[in-house]
Amino acid sequence: MTEIYGNDSLLESLRNAACKGQVSHSYILNGADGTGKLLIARYFARLLQCTGEEKPCGHCLSCLQALSGHHPDIIEVGHEKPNLFGVDDVRTGINQTVQVRPYSSPYKVYILDEAEKMNQQAQNALLKTIEEPPDYVVILLLTSNAESFLETIRSRCVRLDVRPLPEDFIEELLLRRGAEKQDAVRAARLSGGSLGKTFSMLESEPFRKMSELTFGILRDPLKLTMKDIHAFLGEMEKLREETENMFSLMELWFRDVMVMKAGKGEALLLFREEQDHIRAQAARMSYAGTNRVFDEISHARECLNANVNYELTLELLLIAVKECAEGR
Ligand SMILES: [Zn+2]
Repeated sequence: MTEIYGNDSLLESLRNAACKGQVSHSYILNGADGTGKLLIARYFARLLQCTGEEKPCGHCLSCLQALSGHHPDIIEVGHEKPNLFGVDDVRTGINQTVQVRPYSSPYKVYILDEAEKMNQQAQNALLKTIEEPPDYVVILLLTSNAESFLETIRSRCVRLDVRPLPEDFIEELLLRRGAEKQDAVRAARLSGGSLGKTFSMLESEPFRKMSELTFGILRDPLKLTMKDIHAFLGEMEKLREETENMFSLMELWFRDVMVMKAGKGEALLLFREEQDHIRAQAARMSYAGTNRVFDEISHARECLNANVNYELTLELLLIAVKECAEGR
């Protein structure tokens, strides 16, 4: 995926900065995973390096090199260990090359994705470059948590916040790309506005399986027998990494039940295609019962975080959901 969606005003300010030559030496691009930070950073790098008229023109040598990932003056700095951006990564990736002038471009752009993984040593090493950068250097720090940087780093960088996309926008986009309606709705609602997360969910067989199982439970909790509950637990046991998504789906479902109870109508439902089931539950369940479900889900989450037995936790949750659905 190479298209950038949303964040129009951010892109506009990057275009302005590049065209007027008012470019800072270091930027922090802050935003949740999957919101397109890397795409935006690469776009900014192309803007800075493009030699065409309408930047980025997409067909000058610089643009072509950048688009193919082989631009000598756009350097994506990686890290050796998966969970750590270490001091050696910063030294070899940046500090040792920063004094070498760009080969062919006005700038030398360094992009550090997952920069929140830098430990203090690595940040201190980077600080040396950020404090006295050569004229041509632009450093882009991409992070989901700008607060993890040392104050000395933050104070020297221009901070840009990358916003999540509206869920309706994501749903529309998925439908235009040929996703099934119910897949599009579910993935968009759980995306938190992250297109990256949405696509990985849609392509994920475990996600699809979990969502089928969970909707199977939610549509008619009254009919649940202990046998059904145990069958569900057996399947979920194999899909454990989807447990948090399952909790979120349940919360969204009962949010819809609340919306229906409040008489807001189908238009505001997240899962409009499930409205018959949701209406039936709204009619039967009390406000107290619906609220209790939310508490039970939070409680289950806490239990799993505290390493309480997985099956036991989910079993108790489903029994509680059934009780609440009975209007108890
Ligand atoms: Zn160009």
